[in-house]
Formats: sequence, structure tokens, C-alpha cells
Amino acid sequence: MAEEQKDNKRPGSGQQGGGDGKKQMNFYWIYALIAMVLIAMMVFNTSGDGKQIDYREFKAYAENGYIKRLEYNGVKANVFLDSSGRAALSNNTGNQPVMTGLSRSSDCWFNVPPSENKIDEIETLGDKYGFEVEYKPINEFGQNLLFWIVGFGLIIGVWVLIMRRLGGPSGPGGQIFSIGKSKAQLFEKGKGTAVTFNDVAGLEGAKQEVQEIVDFLKNPKKYTELGAKIPKGALLVGPPGTGKTLLAKAVAGEAQVPFFSLSGSDFVEMFVGVGASRVRDLFRQAKEKAPSIIFIDEIDAIGRARSKSINFGSNDERENTLNQLLTEMDGFATNSGIIILAATNRADILDKALLRAGRFDRQIYVDMPDLNERVQIFHVHLKNVKFDKSIDVEFLARQTPGFSGADIANICNEAALIAARKGGTNVGRQDFLDAVDRIIGGLEKKNKIITAEEKSTIAYHESGHAIVSWLLEHASPLVKVTIVPRGRSLGAAWYLPEERQITTTEQIFDEMCAALGGRAAEEVAFGKISTGALSDLEKVTKQAYAMVTVYGLNKKIGNRSYYDSSGESQFTKPYSEETAKVIDEEVSKIIERAYDKAREILISHKEKLDALAKKLLDKEVIFKDDLEEILGARKWADRHTPELQPVIPNP
Ligand code: ADP
Ligand code: ZN
Repeated sequence: MAEEQKDNKRPGSGQQGGGDGKKQMNFYWIYALIAMVLIAMMVFNTSGDGKQIDYREFKAYAENGYIKRLEYNGVKANVFLDSSGRAALSNNTGNQPVMTGLSRSSDCWFNVPPSENKIDEIETLGDKYGFEVEYKPINEFGQNLLFWIVGFGLIIGVWVLIMRRLGGPSGPGGQIFSIGKSKAQLFEKGKGTAVTFNDVAGLEGAKQEVQEIVDFLKNPKKYTELGAKIPKGALLVGPPGTGKTLLAKAVAGEAQVPFFSLSGSDFVEMFVGVGASRVRDLFRQAKEKAPSIIFIDEIDAIGRARSKSINFGSNDERENTLNQLLTEMDGFATNSGIIILAATNRADILDKALLRAGRFDRQIYVDMPDLNERVQIFHVHLKNVKFDKSIDVEFLARQTPGFSGADIANICNEAALIAARKGGTNVGRQDFLDAVDRIIGGLEKKNKIITAEEKSTIAYHESGHAIVSWLLEHASPLVKVTIVPRGRSLGAAWYLPEERQITTTEQIFDEMCAALGGRAAEEVAFGKISTGALSDLEKVTKQAYAMVTVYGLNKKIGNRSYYDSSGESQFTKPYSEETAKVIDEEVSKIIERAYDKAREILISHKEKLDALAKKLLDKEVIFKDDLEEILGARKWADRHTPELQPVIPNP
């Protein structure tokens, strides 16, 4: 990688071929030109020999006997003074005599007035006051030449130094000189991309799709002979951490071609034109190494839909970059052997032009792993972990619903760290469970200072969530309640939300009741409420607005959705002031209704609330079994949980 980049660093070498090369050199030459002009100005300014005086002053110096020596060339005379003369000169001007060049030059000079007898006069003055007068053509040309050589030498020296020091891609400030260069990381054939499809667990569908790309890169003839065109680009769409980058790397690893990897935000810089220049540079490099793969992660950073109104023109730079990318993608022939893979988790906000045929015409969905896939991912990441062989990997997968591949990789690592901290010889089951807790909830804060009163409030709050959700049919089943402070939360009730694609009004409403159960419990137990319900309220408010304005679940507003999937009318409300008022009223009605329901439940189960809170204060963490003990078995079986789903802590 390093060698590759260095070659491109020389401003003038080997790049004259295309128009591309010229543009990229601009950045260097502007700096070089400025430096040269500055130095040239300096050099020209230093041609004087000390201070300029006039003829009258010269005569005064001579009469005072200050002059030691004088050189003249008929036009100009350089005067060398003795020490008292120099003192007088600096007194006169308030400045030290200027020293220039490498050797000491004269102290001052004057223009010899253009008449013959002036020369004679100088000679007589010399005789009279005892200083040497020498006719010496002052070699200005020679002097200037010297300055130029020295000046240029300096420039070149400094230049070489800077290029050496900062030129490297990793050097501090290397940016200044390589700003128009693509920041892509290059993984050469066989180096760095040792990833194969075996390292990617699950994602069978996606793997199959990219398999074709690998196949094409390996033997393009098979396709071209049939007249088939391989897609120029494929877009991997899916939530973060699901293995998009991994998949792209596996493609490169399997195809044994160079792999350029960079993030969409790498194109963007404060300076205008840089993004486009980087795109050009990236494609130039990729062409040189073809067949090759370019992988642009988080392409939404540049690929967001271009704004339609001219008023919001502030994102010109991003749009220029995007335009350049589109141009480049059009510019190379289908069979030139460059394939562009890009990843995003927001395919919906991408510019339509990017998705049309001939560009990223193929979209590959990379989803969150299901139970089976999680088992496979665990297997991949447990390969290098020394773990207790009695651990059932499927059990681990069941404990991690809603986790992405990256989360699972993280758990395996975290569990190993926890085990190491304990000094164990291998990673046990509890280490994995602790790692799961830690990744969901953040670090345990054992020594956070919480007063007894606060602790009791937290216990009632969490018990409130637990009881309300337990007693409502459509609320998600609870797995665990804790008042151990973790991360930024003081306690949490953890649910296993069911896997569902659509949600009914009842379900949303019951979930809102459960979320408000915390605050309601505080009111029921202490008669006062606290700020502890902030995130509950935030969640509930959002849900209520979504019910009314997005999903059309409110009678008064009716079957309307003000949701705009194209994201065009972000700044204007698509409804009238009156409707806005009705929406606000309805939202507040729904929330108050949910709160009242939660409170009613808790009032009628007050002694159970007390019992649960007490138990929680006692044990700090309680599970489903403890709840069953106090509340009795849940009336509604956890009907729709073919698979455990995300554990969502409810602070
Ligand atoms: P994305 O690009 O989708 O955000 P990454 O590809 O960067 O996610 O994934 C991050 C890490 O998570 C990978 O390096 C890998 O260790 C792990 N990972 C994610 N998905 C998988 C998977 N399907 N199989 C194995 N490991 C995975
Ligand atoms: Zn809460």
C-alpha cells in the first residue's frame, strides 16, 4: 500500500498522460508558486548595500573622518564606515545598518550624482580625509545570481524535506499535499484480505449474489462471450454491524483482486473540489489495478439525494462529489474489470440516479441475523476463544436476540476479557451472560452513590414497569428487572419483544401503559413523581405521535399518514394549524389514558407492587420466576415468540 501511494506523490512524474493528472497537480503548484514569489521578492529586496544615503550625507561622513573605504562604479558608491561612523549612521536612522547576503557588505551607499566632477570630488575627499577610494564595477548581476542560486537551493531543499517528511500517507499533515488524493485503503491481492466466505456466517442469500461477482472477476470470458454484462456496482443494504464490510472483503479475498476500501465521508473535506478530485483519483488507481474492487462504506455520506430546491445549495460540495462519482461510474466500460460495492443502511435516502441501471443496479439486502445465523456467527467467532465446551452455543444465540454480527463478535471478545479478569482458564457461561448484559446496558456502576430513598424510588419505578407489563395482554413479556445502575440508567426492566411485522393499536397502547407504569408506581407508592421517567416519557410521546400522524390509528384524525418517505417536506408540515391542534390534543389524550390505566392496575395490585419492590431492593436483580412467584403465572402465554427478539431494557 505504501509503495503504491508514494508513486503518486511526485507532482510532476509520469502523470502528464491524462487530463486527470494535470488537475491533481494544481494543489502542489499553487503552494510552490506562492513560495517562489515570496522568496523572489526577498531576493530582489536585498540588493541594496546597507542604508541609502544621499550625497550630502556622504560628504558629512567624510568630513567627520568616519569613512574607511569607498567603492564606486560610476553610478553607485558603497561606503564602508569605521565604528564611530556606524554609530552615527544608526543614530541617524534609529536602525542598525542592514546586513544582507552572506558576506558583510557596505554600511551604506549612495547614488553618485551624474556629473564628472563628482567623481573627482570623491577622490579628493578620499585623499583629504584618508580613506581609500576604489573604482570597482559592482557586480550586481553576479550578486543577484548568487542570491538566486542560494534562494533556489533553499526552496528545493525545504521542498524535498517537506515531501519526504509529510509526503507519506501516514505522516502528520500529509493531507495538505495529498488532499486531492483518494484516501482509499488498498488491500493488495492476497495481502490483508485473507477473508473468505467461510468467515461470513449466515447471509446465504447475499453470499450467493456476490458469488456471481467473484465468478466474473475470476473468469470474465464466460460472461462476455455470452454477451452478458455484469453489474457495475452492487449496493449492500442493511443495518450497521451486519457484515457488509466483511462480505465485501470476502469478495475481494475470494476473487484475489486488489480491494480499495474507503468510507463515503472520506471524500468530503472542507475544501471545494476535493471530493470530486478524490473520486477521480480513486477510479484512476482502480483502473491501473484492474480487475479490482472498490468498496465505499456508508455511501449515504455522499450519495444522499441531491436537494431539489436551489435554496438549500449549501451542500454543493457533496453534490459535486456525487456527480463526479456518477460520471466515473458511467465512464468505465462494463467489462473493464472494476466492480464497485457500496454499503449503506439507508438505501431510501440515496439519490435515485445512483440506483438506476448501469450504476448500483443491484441491491443486496443484508439483514439482522436470525437464531440460526446467530448460532453460525457464534461458531465463527468462538473459533479462537478458549471456552467451556459444555456451553451450548444455541443457548448463547437465544440470549442475544436482535444482536448484529458485530455485537456477537463483541460479546465473544468481552466474555474472554471478563474471564481473563477473573483469572479463569477458560470462558464460562456466566462470562458470556455478563458480556451480554454489559453490551446491552453498559458498564455496571457498583459504586455509584445512590441514597436509600432514591434506591427505593428506583425499585418501585422498575416494579411498576414489571407489574403493568405482566398484567396486560399485549405488552411484551418481561425477562428481568434490575436496579443495578449500568451505563447511564439507574435500573431497567428487560423485555423480549415479540417478532412481528405489524403492530395493532392494542399492542402499542399496552406497551405505552407498561412504559408509563414506572412513573405511575412512583405516584401510587409515594404520592409524588420524579424525573426518573424521562426516557419513558420520550418513548411514549414518540409512539403516540406516530400512532396519530404516521399510522393512522386515531379516530379523530382518521386514516391519514403524514409520513413522507421521500423526505422532501422536512420543513413544512403537511397539515393545517387546526389539524396540528387536534393532533396535539389526541396525543395528550392517548398518553393520559395509558397513564390512568397503568395507575389503576397498580392501585388494585398495590400489595404486589410493594412485595416486588421489596424483593428488588433485596436482590437487586429479579427474573421471570420471581415475578411468577408474586404475581402468579402470566395469563397470556408468550404466544408469538417463535424466536426470542431484542431484549429492550426499559429504564
Ligand atoms: P457493517 O459493515 O455491516 O457495518 P462489518 O462488516 O463491519 O459490518 O462487521 C463488523 C464485524 O462484525 C465484522 O468484522 C465481523 O467480525 C462481525 N460480523 C458481522 N457480521 C458477521 C457475519 N455474518 N459473520 C461473521 N462475522 C460477522
Ligand atoms: Zn422507566
